Amino acid sequence: MQLMKFEKFVVKEIAHESEGIRTFVLAKENGAIPAYVSGHFFLLRLADENGKPVQRSYSAASHPSEPRLSFCIKLKGIFTNLLWKLKEGDSIEVDGPYGVFLLRAEDTERVFIGGGVGISALRSQILQTIKEGKPCFLFHSAKTLEGLTYHSEMEKLAAAHSNFKAHFSLTGETLPDGWKGMKGRVNVAVLKEKLGSLSEKTFYLCGSKEMAAEISNALIGEGVPKDRIKKDDWV
Ligand SMILES: Cc1cc2nc3c(=O)[nH]c(=O)nc-3n(C[C@H](O)[C@H](O)[C@H](O)COP(=O)(O)OP(=O)(O)OC[C@H]3O[C@@H](n4cnc5c(N)ncnc54)[C@H](O)[C@@H]3O)c2cc1C
Repeated sequence: MQLMKFEKFVVKEIAHESEGIRTFVLAKENGAIPAYVSGHFFLLRLADENGKPVQRSYSAASHPSEPRLSFCIKLKGIFTNLLWKLKEGDSIEVDGPYGVFLLRAEDTERVFIGGGVGISALRSQILQTIKEGKPCFLFHSAKTLEGLTYHSEMEKLAAAHSNFKAHFSLTGETLPDGWKGMKGRVNVAVLKEKLGSLSEKTFYLCGSKEMAAEISNALIGEGVPKDRIKKDDWV
């Protein structure tokens, strides 16, 4: 077991992505941010109102080439309510990196499937895959357009890089006017329709337990080997 080693960071920017989702951009108080790779997560720690430390895990949404660490976070319970009280300039403790939801060097093509705030780790991995020049595809679904965090950034990336294609799906009852994306949950039928063949591809799933299990079981049913399916299912 690795020993935890929290260090002081400063909140440099808080982007209000939507009603319950914010991106927190952090820089180290002194010195450079720790080395990490796309898919790693960090522990963030704050003191509660009684001074008791509270910590949770968050995937880095930033790419390692970016000068600051960023985290895309959904408001939920104890820790995120503490986070929502932070202002730019406040301190927060950070420890890491950790994790095994990492890109496989041997991949030829990558498919990223995200549910809601699961886009966090995928953003970093997509930037890395574009850089490597490998073909990659994003399938991002959320209830509302607002919940598709980084939607416009992903559209711009897809327009600028021929090796990246982005597909978006809304699962809520009402669709915004002029919505040109997909409707409903991403499933294997959708993947086959958009990707054609599922072979030669490695699948990175980041969503709820239910979504990750459902898609991964269906992919296995289609003959995709288990070692070409990686899951992060904390959403
Ligand atoms: C590797 C990893 C990476 C992660 N990356 C991200 C990320 O990038 N972005 C992100 O937003 N999250 C991420 N998470 C999730 C994150 O770690 C936290 O679990 C999440 O932010 C909720 O923490 P919280 O303290 O706000 O909620 P908690 O207080 O821990 O509550 C969690 C849930 O339980 C419910 N709950 C709490 N108490 C009770 C109770 N008594 N009875 C019933 N229900 C209750 C809450 O309503 C809430 O839905 C990641 C988790 C892991 C393991």
